[in-house]
Amino acid sequence: MKQSILLLFLCTALLQPLFSQQQQKLPRVMILATGGTIAGTGASADRSAYKAGELPVKDLIAAVPGIEKVADIKGEQVSNVGSQDMTVDIWMKLNKRINEIFKNNEADGIVITHGTDTQEETAYFLNLTVRYDHPVVLTGSMRPSTAISADGPKNLYDAVTVAASPNSHGRGVMLVFNESIFDARDVEKVSTTHVNGFAAPNGGPLGQVYDGKVIYYFKTLHKANKNTPFDITGMTKLPRVAVAEIYCDAPATAVNAYVADGVDGIITAGMGNGNLNKTNTEAVVNAVKKGVAVCRASRVFTGRVTLYDETDDTKLGTFVSDNLSPQKARILLMLALTQTKDRDKLQQIFFEY
Ligand code: ASP
Repeated sequence: MKQSILLLFLCTALLQPLFSQQQQKLPRVMILATGGTIAGTGASADRSAYKAGELPVKDLIAAVPGIEKVADIKGEQVSNVGSQDMTVDIWMKLNKRINEIFKNNEADGIVITHGTDTQEETAYFLNLTVRYDHPVVLTGSMRPSTAISADGPKNLYDAVTVAASPNSHGRGVMLVFNESIFDARDVEKVSTTHVNGFAAPNGGPLGQVYDGKVIYYFKTLHKANKNTPFDITGMTKLPRVAVAEIYCDAPATAVNAYVADGVDGIITAGMGNGNLNKTNTEAVVNAVKKGVAVCRASRVFTGRVTLYDETDDTKLGTFVSDNLSPQKARILLMLALTQTKDRDKLQQIFFEY
């Protein structure tokens, strides 16, 4: 009896270091919190009124049971805003911190908690400016933390699972929501209030995260992260680009006002295949003459905007967004204008990124 107790003790003592080594081997995931509904609180669980960006990052992590078994988690608060108040300055801060984390080997992957309103924009900005191939995953929630069946904890668990997966390297920045994994370039917010708030209307999700497992079906062909040339290190400002929506009988007020305001670029969210009415065509020609870069995008959320179908882009001096949404075309143009003002080169950039 004594002997078997001694044997058991010895085995436990010998195996102990192995177990703790295994624990140490958990991937390190840094959660960078920026605010949003996931950090929102409301007065009651059964009503929708709430304030975004209230809970600190430690409370977000504490609300996810079992997350400590998926990764060795650390958290940092970058901002605490509803993402309708996200700014280019916060993007620059995020970009700087992410590049620094990977450079200093502080984490193997990063999760960014973010409001859903502009989450796809932040994801695409980082897709083009983070200079490492490590996983960077954005997530958020449609319901505040205090709601019945809040979706934040599950989304955060899934996002950490994706960021911790070795399979997630080299896929660009991704957005994880409602068990789907999306590419930063393709993802769009598609519902104002439902928990399936995101979709990739042109190509579908890259994969799924379910029951703690990450499954990929596709890989993006567009350049991202290590393969993008957009190095904004040391920059404090980016070129200013605005979006003008075109609709039936739209006046040229918006385009003219942006030009007068001194913007560097304009994205037109045109009708159909990026079409402009006559009034806005004239305003655009005038804008181009004044040195403003004008890209034709579409307010239609699937399909490409193509050169020369109904619009003579050479005559207008414009170029097209391919299948980027107007809000994402704006981001690409802001970054592209740090490199060139040449229309043909800008067009090439829009076909590649
Ligand atoms: N307005 C909120 C935000 O974007 C909405 C959300 O997070 O779902 O921060």
